[in-house]
Amino acid sequence: MSNKSIGLDDRLYEYLTSVSLREPEILAQLREETAALPNAGMQIAPDQGQFMALLVKLIGAAKVLEVGVFTGYSSLSVALALPGQGRITAFDISPEWTAVARRYWEEAGVADKIDLHLGEAIDGLDALLAEGQTEGTYDLAFIDADKVNYDGYYERALRLLKPCGLLLIDNVLWGGRVADKSVDDSDTAAIRALNLKIHADPRVDISLLPVADGLTLALKCPAVF
Ligand code: CA
Repeated sequence: MSNKSIGLDDRLYEYLTSVSLREPEILAQLREETAALPNAGMQIAPDQGQFMALLVKLIGAAKVLEVGVFTGYSSLSVALALPGQGRITAFDISPEWTAVARRYWEEAGVADKIDLHLGEAIDGLDALLAEGQTEGTYDLAFIDADKVNYDGYYERALRLLKPCGLLLIDNVLWGGRVADKSVDDSDTAAIRALNLKIHADPRVDISLLPVADGLTLALKCPAVF
């Protein structure tokens, strides 16, 4: 026994999923199709998708923001957990990846819940903020896109979240590279910088979970509101 998080080797991870994963067939199909793509590693883990769906229900989320769609596993997981009036505002740069996502959203009957914006997410988030009446309205936000812009996504998502809205940030352990001093590429540096910033950020309550590639939960809970 240990008082630190347990490391998951393949055998234990297989056990974990065997006793906890309840992956809907359509998500399993999407995972299988995505596995054939060169960027398949960008897909979230199925247990992470299930965790995010649980969070949606736990906090009663109806209005969700997603930065980085890829082939749609996370958005589909979340959309399936949303109430009937629930909506996701999603951003991605890739028509090819999101064409796969759209196909699965349609098949699952949740396409009308997801408003996809193609293009640079920083610009898209700024446009969303400029629309007015969007600031402080989102229940949940998920950031899982290009790492060098993580700080920009973080700041914009914080503005869009309502008080006590929940922000999820993916890949915060970055395959362990964040802790490897010999690694100094721009992606790793950006994740390290944001991790440090969030650690000291009084605007949020936080927990960094060693789920999949590391998932930070940041609750926008101002001290007085
Ligand atoms: Ca990711």
